[in-house]
Amino acid sequence: MTSKSIKNVVIIGGGISGPALALALQKHSINSTLYEGRPSNYKVGGSIALSSNAMRMLDNLGLATKTRSIGYPGDTMSLVNLEGKELGILTWGSETLFGYPAIITYRNSIRELLLDECQKNGISVRYDMRFVGASEDPETGIATARFANGEIVEADLLVGADGIFSRVREAIMPGHTPKFRGQVTVRGFTASKNIKGLDKNDVRSKIVLSPAGSFAVLPADKDADHIIFFSTLTTHARSKEEWREFSKDQVGLKAMLQDPFSKEPWSEYIRNLVTQTPVEGFDCWPFHTITIPQYTSTHGHILVLGDAAHGLPPSAGQGGSMALEDALTLALTISHFNTALSSPSPSPSLLNHLHIWHHIRKQRIAKVEERTNASTSTRTATLTKSEEERGEKEKALKEVSGKGVELEWLYGYSVEGFEGEFEGRLAGVGDGE
Ligand SMILES: Cc1cc2nc3c(=O)[nH]c(=O)nc-3n(C[C@H](O)[C@H](O)[C@H](O)COP(=O)(O)OP(=O)(O)OC[C@H]3O[C@@H](n4cnc5c(N)ncnc54)[C@H](O)[C@@H]3O)c2cc1C
Repeated sequence: MTSKSIKNVVIIGGGISGPALALALQKHSINSTLYEGRPSNYKVGGSIALSSNAMRMLDNLGLATKTRSIGYPGDTMSLVNLEGKELGILTWGSETLFGYPAIITYRNSIRELLLDECQKNGISVRYDMRFVGASEDPETGIATARFANGEIVEADLLVGADGIFSRVREAIMPGHTPKFRGQVTVRGFTASKNIKGLDKNDVRSKIVLSPAGSFAVLPADKDADHIIFFSTLTTHARSKEEWREFSKDQVGLKAMLQDPFSKEPWSEYIRNLVTQTPVEGFDCWPFHTITIPQYTSTHGHILVLGDAAHGLPPSAGQGGSMALEDALTLALTISHFNTALSSPSPSPSLLNHLHIWHHIRKQRIAKVEERTNASTSTRTATLTKSEEERGEKEKALKEVSGKGVELEWLYGYSVEGFEGEFEGRLAGVGDGE
């Protein structure tokens, strides 16, 4: 079994977890190269709520201030009924309670911030490098990555940060493919000035819940110059190609939101949004999730993190945060392994270190998922038609939606906390094989 230190890491994927890992490794004096399949000018769509736990990770990378500058603080989102009565509150963060506010920004902005930081710090980022396959050699402790252009690179560790449809995962868990969850979010994005009669000062983050469906609206930027709105609709599974076609059909996407949201019982405000937003502002996000039993390969030289390891239901609003937590805790784990190698103690095992990281992370992800499912089912239940039942569910919703609910475990998560647990487990299970 390998007992050489990890000096070079190849990272596949320049989304959120990839560049965060590269930056975190650099803080532990470990070199990495980032390979992104798409061109450098590619832009991802949508916005993201970076909750307090995500902000703590970004602060560890020295990026909290920069992150604040690319977004706006958005700690909560109201859940209201058609009459505007507040049914509950979704909490993403709080500077007072958890040390950091939640920051709402564009997904592309946080991705670019992380990638720019890599380049500023001299980390090599190579675009147009589509990864196609990997292997590991247990004798030499070398992992090999192959790319569509024929290039082959070697490293001590190969990390797949390549998203929910990960190719790297194939090298670890062949045949595990993401599951479609029967829902698609259809979104609109528009300049506030496009919507007749809309006062941008009145735009608040909220989800309107009714027996006829749910509709969310939030400012896309600090001054609400732009607005994002979306609804999650039920639909059948499609192949990758069919989803591509579905996503490209912006006329069809707009029509999907117009029916039902351009008529009763929806307010004029919502009707105006779905009818007056230009067609080019519509896109969609089909919900896929994945669970795999192991994040690492047989010999520990290939592994996955972020969405590639555990695509979460989007209603969690935690996919990006988990990706950041994975990255920083993994970098620490690798650094721990390198340090243990240079100490006089018995030779440590890379695989053992990575398995402990995996177990700790997997437990946390399961807890986040459990909370998401509970809150989603309570939210969905308010859509039932019986008034009496709705009253009961509204009460339950208030209870799970933030106020009075202990969220420190979620938003107070820290690398130091992880380290304590890691060291405890390492001491408990022993090291070396
Ligand atoms: C519309 C939308 C809204 C969201 N809102 C939130 C939110 O509010 N809060 C939150 O926490 N999360 C949110 N998420 C989820 C969050 O964006 C993801 O969980 C997060 O981006 C996962 O990061 P990642 O680095 O693991 O994967 P990704 O960000 O998907 O990055 C994967 C990267 O790998 C590259 N890649 C893929 N295959 C290859 C290959 N073969 N070779 C080379 N490169 C490859 C891709 O091009 C991509 O750049 C949202 C997601 C969407 C789609």
